[in-house]
Amino acid sequence: GPMSVGDFAKALQREPADVIKKLLLLGIMATINQEIDTDAMELIASEYGVTLNVVEPVDEEALDMLIEEEDPANLKPRPPVVTIMGHVDHGKTTLLDAIRESKVTATESGGITQHIGAYQVEVNGRPITFLDTPGHEAFTTMRARGAQVTDLTILVVAADDGVMPQTIEAINHAKAANVPIIVAVNKIDKPDANPDRVQQELTQYGLVPEAWGGDTIFAPISALKKEGLDELLEMVLLVADVQELKANPNGRPRGTVIEAKLDKGRGSVATVLVQNGTLKVGDIVVAGTTYGRVRAMVNDMGRRLKQAGPSMPVEIQGLNGVPSAGDQFVVYDDERGARNLVEKRMSREKQEQMQTTSKVTLDDLYKQIQEGKVAELNVIVKADVQGSVEALVQSIEKIDVSGVRVKVIHRGAGAITESDVSLAAASNAIIIGFHVRPDVNATRMAEAEKVDIRLYRVIYNVISELESAMKGMLEPEY
Ligand code: GDP
Repeated sequence: GPMSVGDFAKALQREPADVIKKLLLLGIMATINQEIDTDAMELIASEYGVTLNVVEPVDEEALDMLIEEEDPANLKPRPPVVTIMGHVDHGKTTLLDAIRESKVTATESGGITQHIGAYQVEVNGRPITFLDTPGHEAFTTMRARGAQVTDLTILVVAADDGVMPQTIEAINHAKAANVPIIVAVNKIDKPDANPDRVQQELTQYGLVPEAWGGDTIFAPISALKKEGLDELLEMVLLVADVQELKANPNGRPRGTVIEAKLDKGRGSVATVLVQNGTLKVGDIVVAGTTYGRVRAMVNDMGRRLKQAGPSMPVEIQGLNGVPSAGDQFVVYDDERGARNLVEKRMSREKQEQMQTTSKVTLDDLYKQIQEGKVAELNVIVKADVQGSVEALVQSIEKIDVSGVRVKVIHRGAGAITESDVSLAAASNAIIIGFHVRPDVNATRMAEAEKVDIRLYRVIYNVISELESAMKGMLEPEY
């Protein structure tokens, strides 16, 4: 970047007066404290017979461009990244463990399993990455931070229990993120298993098997008896093939933090998923508001690695702090630039905390519509009884004010929970509660994430407030 004449002279090991003279001859009038650009520096350097190695500081916006603008010619297929979701006790953990045990990569057998938050298995010689925090909380927390790491979701539904509230939540989370779903109908070994009923129930949520004219894949399995796992994993590869997942293994390394902690002996350890490029030991990494040089890299079998390519999860050491799950990481050229970026981010974070939110609220909805920031209002509807839920959703979906549609992305009977708030935060939605309230955790999270929760006791009020808000005629709340 630009440099003062004095600093530049020092770098060249020349007298500043001499440099100023040379600049004059080039038609550039400059004093010792004045900054000169890289073009001028290159000219002067060549006068002295020195070749300049110009390192342009990468600013964040430029970095984003670098990331987005991979030349398609450099893209290579990469393994899929899979999340397992579903209702509690339907067998998510059992399935994650079963897959892991039965399909450890051939080269890794004999290693010792490390729980680093993600693992990789090999199926027909092809790797698949699993995030091993089951459930949609982790999934949505990451999405709320702007990280999209999951390529596809396995929805586990127990054949003896059928579709349950968290099954529906999981479906809505996956849909909101545009992530394809493969249904694993689990516990088919049980005498009271009824896989047909599961298929029937799921059609209500748009998951229709091919045999019935839909395009959802259903795989009957027993996670406990390790039955049907090969078929399930082959389906995962099939869906992944359709997605044509790609990355540039030679591009700038970047990815997402899966989890991170402070370890007594090793300091900050972070499991990262590489999403582009190849991360190497020695690389300078910026992750959220932390940075550092990668000192060591370990895979899910406890093996030390020198490098990790696209879709590989690895645990890294060397960051100067503990980043958050969902933070993006990127490799930086030099440590000073990395530190500058982190400092910039930290001060911006502070500023943002002081400023008001950019999330949608009813109070500023009209303004956001006018500014073109919102074209569709996402809402989550919670009510005390299922009948009210349906009545509300029907009325809400009919609202249409000057082309802005209201879209119900999740609905359910019961209190407003943390899961509702995290979905709202990730999807820029507001929450409408009818004869229900948020629980303590949900309230705390809504405050932190600046999610607008509106509570009502009369359906008419819900509709009229939404309409007023969309027309910019909402009475301000005091
Ligand atoms: P999670 O809460 O979804 O992670 O569910 P778990 O994996 O902890 O499983 C809940 C219970 O279901 C455990 O007692 C498992 O042993 C049992 N389970 C999981 N998969 C199967 C299966 O395929 N068949 C049978 N019979 N039991 C299963």
